[in-house]
Amino acid sequence: MLEHVTEEELAEVESRKESPNLPVPEVKDNETRILDVKLTKEVSQSEEKVDPQEVLSVQEAVQLLKKGTLEEKKYQVKEGDVLGSIANAHNLTLAELLILNEGLTEDAVLKPGRELNVTVLRPFVEVVVDRQVYAEEEMAYEKEVIEDSNMFKGDTKTKQEGQVGMKGVTSSLTEQNGRVIKKEVIKETVLKEPVKEIIVKGTKMVPSRGDGTFVWPTNGGYVSSRQGYRWSRMHKGIDIARPSNYTIKAADNGNVVYAGNKGDGYGNKIIIDHNNGYRTMYAHLASISVSVGQTVSRGSSIGIMGRTGNSTGIHLHFEVYQNGKIIDPLSKLN
Ligand SMILES: [Zn+2]
Repeated sequence: MLEHVTEEELAEVESRKESPNLPVPEVKDNETRILDVKLTKEVSQSEEKVDPQEVLSVQEAVQLLKKGTLEEKKYQVKEGDVLGSIANAHNLTLAELLILNEGLTEDAVLKPGRELNVTVLRPFVEVVVDRQVYAEEEMAYEKEVIEDSNMFKGDTKTKQEGQVGMKGVTSSLTEQNGRVIKKEVIKETVLKEPVKEIIVKGTKMVPSRGDGTFVWPTNGGYVSSRQGYRWSRMHKGIDIARPSNYTIKAADNGNVVYAGNKGDGYGNKIIIDHNNGYRTMYAHLASISVSVGQTVSRGSSIGIMGRTGNSTGIHLHFEVYQNGKIIDPLSKLN
């Protein structure tokens, strides 16, 4: 029995049984308390006169109680035997067979004639322990999204940080020979309520303000040149060629802040400020259909693709700036 509970635990259970009216303190964090210890079969004592040869030594008696038998059953390995089939034939698991035979391993080579212990363990007594266990567990927090029409679409902010809560859980465990066979939660106490996470999401739409999601600025076509060094010069944007028609579209809502030809190699170009930190630039246009100060909406037509400025063929040169810094347009386009 002392294999499954400590001597102190056993003494505590005994003293509690003697004075059942005394209050029992609650279990604290990571503490367990034994509520009861019993054997599945009554072990009784009686005095009888027996042949001295039938008297068992203490060791033999303990073995008899635990294994249920004193006689070890042996099996002689035959040609072609494998451990799994031997275990099966004797109502044992492979793990049990290995425990019964010290030094035997799963990949051992079985020589015919070898003796294996195949005693099936059927304990006469089983020690059943009821325990009470207390543990503290985290509680997840809820998430809530609130829409705010005073905040711009595309903007979010955290109104309240989420925090996990804590609860104390008292459970009862039933162990049989040290193995848990039943677990039940008896009591849950909230020690700290979780704090809900609250996120505010803007819904306000302004015609001249983009929400940061871009549409492809042409009708189809493909990227004929990416951003990066080309002939040892930085290519600051992407080139889009061979669209299904030559209409150029505003990538997002915004205001036109430049429309014209400066003679800087870009030919006819348009710059749109999206009023959210982003600016986009469209170059080499054949013609421009918007003017400075004009409000444009995402996807609206702003001009026609062409080859003005330093351009070898008809294509759109497209650049994106975020807070004044050039970024890769493909990071904003799908
Ligand atoms: Zn280009």
